[in-house]
Amino acid sequence: MLGLTATDLWPGEEWNFVFGMATYDQRVGVWSVARFGDPAQDRLGLLRRMLKTALHETGHMFTMHHCTAWNCLMSGSNNLRETDRRTMDACPECTAKIWVLSGCDPAARFQALAKLAGEHDLDAEQAQWLKAAETLVAP
Ligand SMILES: [Zn+2]
Ligand SMILES: [Zn+2]
Repeated sequence: MLGLTATDLWPGEEWNFVFGMATYDQRVGVWSVARFGDPAQDRLGLLRRMLKTALHETGHMFTMHHCTAWNCLMSGSNNLRETDRRTMDACPECTAKIWVLSGCDPAARFQALAKLAGEHDLDAEQAQWLKAAETLVAP
């Protein structure tokens, strides 16, 4: 279960805030849009931050830890600049982990992501995910 809130998340004394958090073993997570900006001024920017955080926390819910090898969806993020720099998709190593841990059909996953991106004007992501899906489908 992954929850979305507009309330700022603060997990304890040693933190200022978190964009989201999740358990590694109970498949529960939450993320907040409180620090993602004003949708009236930058709808696509806010949407990208939301999706990156939701996908990142979902990765944690499937036991994935932070990626330190690549600029990747599963890289850690402590501020918006790091969130914005993080890619929407996972690196090759984390992509393989997603496929194994979720048991998904890789091509169907990329097709579904491309459809979602297309429905929300995320043109660059749609093109990237369509290309990935086409690469995985046998000719
Ligand atoms: Zn994380
Ligand atoms: Zn990675």
